[in-house]
Amino acid sequence: MSDEETYDVIVIGAGPGGYVAAIRSAQLGQKVAIVEKRATLGGTCLNIGCIPSKALLDSSEFFARTKHEGSEHGIVSTGLELDLPAMHTRKDAVVHKLVSGVSTLMKKNKIAVHTGTAHLEEPGRVTVTAEDGSTSTISATNIIIASGSVPQELPFMPFDGSRVVSSTEALAFDSVPEKLVVVGAGAIGLELGSVWARLGAQVDVVEILPEILAGWDPQTAKSLRRELSKQGLNFHLKTKVTGVNTSKKQGVTLEAQDTDGNAVSFEADKVLVAVGRRPYAEGLRLGQAGVELEEDGTRIKIDDRFRTSASGVYAIGDVVRGPMLAHKAEDEGMAVAEIIAGSGGGHVNYDAVPNVVYTWPEVASVGHSEDALKKEGRDYRKGQFPFAANGRALAMGASAGFVKILADAHTDRVLGADILGPYASDLISEIVSVVEFGGSSEDIARTVHAHPTLPEAVREAALAVDNRSIHGA
Ligand code: FAD
Repeated sequence: MSDEETYDVIVIGAGPGGYVAAIRSAQLGQKVAIVEKRATLGGTCLNIGCIPSKALLDSSEFFARTKHEGSEHGIVSTGLELDLPAMHTRKDAVVHKLVSGVSTLMKKNKIAVHTGTAHLEEPGRVTVTAEDGSTSTISATNIIIASGSVPQELPFMPFDGSRVVSSTEALAFDSVPEKLVVVGAGAIGLELGSVWARLGAQVDVVEILPEILAGWDPQTAKSLRRELSKQGLNFHLKTKVTGVNTSKKQGVTLEAQDTDGNAVSFEADKVLVAVGRRPYAEGLRLGQAGVELEEDGTRIKIDDRFRTSASGVYAIGDVVRGPMLAHKAEDEGMAVAEIIAGSGGGHVNYDAVPNVVYTWPEVASVGHSEDALKKEGRDYRKGQFPFAANGRALAMGASAGFVKILADAHTDRVLGADILGPYASDLISEIVSVVEFGGSSEDIARTVHAHPTLPEAVREAALAVDNRSIHGA
């Protein structure tokens, strides 16, 4: 054991949870190693998630807006063509730049990178198996598991990598499918469905629930569905997928049942199954180190300080409870590093974690939804303002949507917000900060906002909480 490399902290998994935990630990003076089985760092998010999907969303949006809205702006684009390989090359370059950046950050912070698959020998000891089968064992006082998640399969239609696919393959189709069926109307399904619809595919979205975006405010979800329908996405709600027939040489037939129990089928070139992601802890040999799972048998059980049931072993990110979001994983990464180093801090405010879907228009939310407040019987006031009355949105030609702010009826503290509109992902930040500070709608309403900007719609919604919106109808 004496020739084992020893560290203060070993991080397993170099996604946004793991690499951020490693950097924060190093900043706090710890000797850190990170183990990653993928050839590049950055995890799901940078390699096959957030970043490539946003690169394709931006490129396809550019294409679709030029095609459909160019003439309105006086832009004539005769002969507009799609060069899909070039679009993928650009996406790959963005990914490459960011994953290389994470490697540079590891060097800068003197973090030892071990490439290979990690498993726990016992608390404090990790064995890394490299691709060539060679192994090495490293040890540390503290281990942080940040092994992430993988796409959820439907048991009766496993991924085959070409016709029944996950988000990973849908980020890299080498031609635009004529017909794409998306199973599941959550963030990933809607984002990738939008990409391929904009590039010319006929997209059918099949969802078992009565509305898209489960867990979101129903008004926001319904409004987004209407906007996406206008862009050509066909939604089939309350429709349960029952099977898939891949016996034909080309394409697939997706079998389903509609609301009334009638059999329906969809012909497609590709079926993207986007029904969620499942925590990934395979091969970690958690049992032999005494790390317990939650009752669902998938997520690693932790307490409010990210401690697992094994001494000195912590877990964060998609592999533990809470929303599967990169920024949630990052914040947990910083918090766990601070807890381990005993530096103070070490806290994540789960009431102030924004949630975003990067369609066009985008949707973003934070805190309580109106629906949740109604169900809780909470006394709240609501202010809503449409982008159709915002000068900048009109100038951009992006006037669909609204900002909705919910505040406590007695204290005026901001409890939550929903935004459907252009750059909702950026606009939500102002409200997240106010929620974090325990601020009121009056705080936003009294803040000077530059004119003409989209954030003025946020201010108007805050003014509307007190029925004093200036530009509202
Ligand atoms: P991961 O990023 O999954 O990283 C875990 C890493 O651990 C992986 O690199 C894996 O190879 C490694 N690993 C696992 N087991 C071992 C082992 N035994 N040994 C060594 N290494 C191991 N989230 C957002 O917030 N915004 C978005 O816009 C967004 N878009 C997305 C789009 C798509 C298409 C997808 C698929 C996901 C998206 N997500 C988005 C979700 C986001 O990617 C995840 O929430 C985030 O990556 C979770 O971070 P993590 O560090 O917990 O795990």
